[in-house]
Amino acid sequence: MPAKTIRRTRQPVTTEALEQEVFAPRAQVPYGCERRHSFTLTFAVDAPAPSHWDCPRCGQLAARQDSAPAPAPQPKPVRSHWDRLLQRRTIPELEELLAERLREMRGQA
Ligand SMILES: [Zn+2]
Repeated sequence: MPAKTIRRTRQPVTTEALEQEVFAPRAQVPYGCERRHSFTLTFAVDAPAPSHWDCPRCGQLAARQDSAPAPAPQPKPVRSHWDRLLQRRTIPELEELLAERLREMRGQA
């Protein structure tokens, strides 16, 4: 098994050189919210920066300022109790349950 040769430079390693080696190249991405708060986030160049970010001052959605404004992410559709109920039961089943409950209530009254 051949021994690996470890090359060492005789030059002392500067902190700048070390930083370049340790950290991936980064990009400053400006964001701004509707209340005109602006802030900058740092992302690695190879990681795509998100189009929106929560404003650290007011919590509103802030849009990226360095590119064409992207459409705001669509909120999830709100599902009502009725929608969830319909996932578990069919209408005939619900009608049957309702009739059963009504019989019970009328019987007790
Ligand atoms: Zn804000």
